[in-house]
Amino acid sequence: MLEGEIHSHLLPDFIIERREDRCIRCRVCERQCGFNVHWYDEETDSMKEDEMKCVGCQRCVVMCPTKALIVKPYPGDYRANANWTKERILDLKKQAETGGVLLTGTGNDKPFRIYWDHIVLNASQVTNPSIDPLREPMELRTFLGRKPDKLEIEFNGDLDDVEIKTELSPNVMIETPIVFSAMSYGAISYQAFKALAMAANEYGTLFNTGEGGLPRELRKYGKNAIVQCASGRFGVDPEYLNCAAVIEIKIGQGAKPGIGGHLPGEKVTEPISITRMIPEGTDALSPAPQHDIYSIEDLSMLIYALKEATDYEKPVCVKIAAVHNAAAIASGMVRAGADIIALDGLRGGTGAAPKIIRDNVGIPIEMALASVDQRLREEGIRNKASILVAGGFRCSADIVKAIALGADAVYIGTAALVAMGCTLCQKCHTGICNWGICTQDPNLAKRLNPEIAKKRLVNLLRAWSLEIKEMLGGMGINAIESLRGNREHLRGVGLEDWELEVLGIKGAGE
Ligand code: SF4
Ligand code: SF4
Repeated sequence: MLEGEIHSHLLPDFIIERREDRCIRCRVCERQCGFNVHWYDEETDSMKEDEMKCVGCQRCVVMCPTKALIVKPYPGDYRANANWTKERILDLKKQAETGGVLLTGTGNDKPFRIYWDHIVLNASQVTNPSIDPLREPMELRTFLGRKPDKLEIEFNGDLDDVEIKTELSPNVMIETPIVFSAMSYGAISYQAFKALAMAANEYGTLFNTGEGGLPRELRKYGKNAIVQCASGRFGVDPEYLNCAAVIEIKIGQGAKPGIGGHLPGEKVTEPISITRMIPEGTDALSPAPQHDIYSIEDLSMLIYALKEATDYEKPVCVKIAAVHNAAAIASGMVRAGADIIALDGLRGGTGAAPKIIRDNVGIPIEMALASVDQRLREEGIRNKASILVAGGFRCSADIVKAIALGADAVYIGTAALVAMGCTLCQKCHTGICNWGICTQDPNLAKRLNPEIAKKRLVNLLRAWSLEIKEMLGGMGINAIESLRGNREHLRGVGLEDWELEVLGIKGAGE
């Protein structure tokens, strides 16, 4: 330790148990750990570990050929104190040692109420028969975009000669109401980004480029891409916009509402600099606001500029973080011309965010979705925009409940990362991801085989889609369209009256 250097008072987060009778000193754990936790001691011919460096990603545990390792939370704690928890004390000590903002990755891990776990679904019994999805057709197809108030049809006496007179807005068809949420090339590795694009293409759904642009060689997946136009405008040009299925204006992100983005210069490698159209090695700073948007009128101008640039052929989506007045903002967004509105809730993921923001700002997506859907219905403009929701969707039941609450489709981010290998170690912001997902280190990134990751993602989409069909069948519904906004299929359990009121659902037994 150098003179004047602060001696760390931190406790380790994890302990490592190595069963010596199993360890064959193959040094796999040493090679697999990007945080340099394990090392070989020649003198004692044994493996050693530095627990202070362990982030609990479990890579070494999974890769150890003899299953000799156990990594578990460090059991030591300070004197019990309901106010000064271990996390509060450790965070404060880190700041006393570094003098900086604490950064973190992934979504909010605080025990805010997860409303999906307090909402139950209905099922048919006796009077309305359920449907067997293995024997009957089940429709999960979803169209995203503005729908007309009414359809004028000219029928010329022949069923083959029907003409729709109403001018229809562009809509995008997806085979399942599950879309991959925004994860930029730069925040995630090229391999992970490509896997998401390929999986969306194979299953007939969409992936979202995030704000990092779309590499040219991946533009063949453009018809499955939602391309973002964020505050930094990285990688945005007419070709980028025109190759996409949907254009998304990013105003906010659930993990860090009101906060901009920062990709450090060391992560801006040559291919990322080309895709983002910025010099190699420079920090990619996304300002907190879009500097040309200070009102709904300004937003409208950008929406129509993007529509103009794409010949009015693409739906334009506007994404906001779920905040207190989300319903009023969403109403303004629809009136400004948004064809899709995306709401990203309190538990939405991130590659890097100030921990204090991630854990304390925003509202749960369940509340935001219910209030936005309700407000748009009351104002008679619900059909003018589709609603895409994001923010911690963990299973197919969450998705079914979201659709019954009013969503058209759901964005999944963290779930997709977990499918590829992520273990939620929350160290994405360090640029070291032992699973090759959230890193630009070529040695780590090559651990993720895009073909295998794509297969895992497609399997997840398939599994959840099958489960959604099972749940629909149980409710006696054969098309997801019939469930949309149908809150009669939901009941609350263990919720206060005000919560039921915001969610617009009855309590169980009512
Ligand atoms: S990977 Fe397992 S067997 Fe190999 S050195 Fe590490 S603990 Fe021992
Ligand atoms: S993507 Fe990688 S670094 Fe981020 S939480 Fe998952 S395993 Fe950890």
